[in-house]
Amino acid sequence: MKRNFNDDISTPDNFVVTLELVPGREVSGQKLDKIKGIAKESFEDGRITAVSITDNPGGNPALSPDALGYEMQNYGLDVIVHFTCRDTNRVGMESRALQLAHMGMKNILALTGDYSGLGYGGRGTPVFDFDSVVLISMLNDLNMRLIKTGHSEIFLTGCAVSPFKYTEAEALVQYRKLQRKIEAGASFTITQLGYDIDKYEELLIYNQEHDVDIPVLASLYLLGKGPARPMNAGKVPGVHVSDNLLQKVLSEYESGEGKKHAIERIARLGVVLKGIGYNGIHLGGIHDSFDTVGKVLDRMDEIEHNWEDYREEFQENDPKSFYLYKKSDEQKNGQVYKEKIKLKVGDNCHYLFLRTAHDWFFDKNAKLAPIYKKISSSLDKTNSSWALKLFLEDPFKKLMLSCQSCGDCGIQHVGFLCPESGCPKHTRNGACGGSNNGYCEVHEDKLCVWVRAYYRMKKHSETDELASSFVPPRLWELKDTSSWINFHLDRDHQAKDKKAA
Ligand code: SF4
Repeated sequence: MKRNFNDDISTPDNFVVTLELVPGREVSGQKLDKIKGIAKESFEDGRITAVSITDNPGGNPALSPDALGYEMQNYGLDVIVHFTCRDTNRVGMESRALQLAHMGMKNILALTGDYSGLGYGGRGTPVFDFDSVVLISMLNDLNMRLIKTGHSEIFLTGCAVSPFKYTEAEALVQYRKLQRKIEAGASFTITQLGYDIDKYEELLIYNQEHDVDIPVLASLYLLGKGPARPMNAGKVPGVHVSDNLLQKVLSEYESGEGKKHAIERIARLGVVLKGIGYNGIHLGGIHDSFDTVGKVLDRMDEIEHNWEDYREEFQENDPKSFYLYKKSDEQKNGQVYKEKIKLKVGDNCHYLFLRTAHDWFFDKNAKLAPIYKKISSSLDKTNSSWALKLFLEDPFKKLMLSCQSCGDCGIQHVGFLCPESGCPKHTRNGACGGSNNGYCEVHEDKLCVWVRAYYRMKKHSETDELASSFVPPRLWELKDTSSWINFHLDRDHQAKDKKAA
């Protein structure tokens, strides 16, 4: 019987197991046969609901998850296709979604994606026309269209979240973006990878406190010494491996029993996660055979009743790290998290100046708004808006924001920082999962633009706005036109009817 991921995660008390497979750059051969073999055995074993297939992981080219997933569906397994925003624009993404619907592949994990890696002739163009929130919204709108045309099977869209953020700004920005993903239509969540049970639990408590009620699957990774080093060094976006864990893994491999310990570790973590209320696990890092998957699941069955005994070994207890719900315990022990990140002198003035200018000139409810609209309309009719742009808007915005002249300004959504010049992935709805200790995944010497936005807004108790309603994508047709005029003439993304074409 064919498995159905949607049915399995929607059944209360069902503990779902999914398996992540990573296609390589080959179109046939031993490695691919091994992946297919694992998928076939997963179906025969019966405990895996679906395989999930990565989309050019690390930004490097690989066999398409759509092609491989289509083949695997025929084995009887359900498939979750990873769908990133890095490689194609909105036209390509919608076309890919239509193709997936046509092929009967409706489970999507919508991701902003790692930054572009190396392809033929060098680094690929980082497209990022959408972020993951907009992608989820697009798939949701496509669902409406499918329903209207009589289709009963529609996309089941999930999203990722990384609870493994150890500064206040990164943690809260992640969680607030998760709220936006759910508002946009995400129906399940898969966490990023880590081994810190307090962080796993933090996510569940946050969800409970904010009425987030969708199934959450925890990523579990068979941690070998090869991947452990780059993961510990922050080289794998969104993943956290502590120094202690790295040392443990290295010594286990030195003793010749590394793999045995790795299997035991994820089995123990798996039962603790089930115990604290996760709806399932998402297994990764298993590339050799299904046998390893079977061993993890068998061991989980054996030790499940004792899950509380294993909880402590996954507690990191680093007082230098931020935990949203552990503050009072730490304070009792005299250990208080101290924020490490300091914004530059002048950041607050920059924020206040731009926010005030925005309130005066770019608020449709401002007293003078009708006058600005009249001026904009007259400049537009006389074809003289270029003069405003050339002599006033461009010099001001280039100086203040390194403006990229996109003509559809989004600074008001990012603490009055530019999502085009400030974020290599042009995110408008919240941070990607790749920041590391507050710094950007791509430009490691710069603070993530959302971390800066958070602290700028926190000073004025305005961080709730980071979870406020969905920010539509920028309109490329406005490139190199005046964003000021576009705003007043209701041409930009903020006009009410501009959510989708
Ligand atoms: S600025 Fe932040 S959101 Fe943008 S790519 Fe860097 S880490 Fe990701």
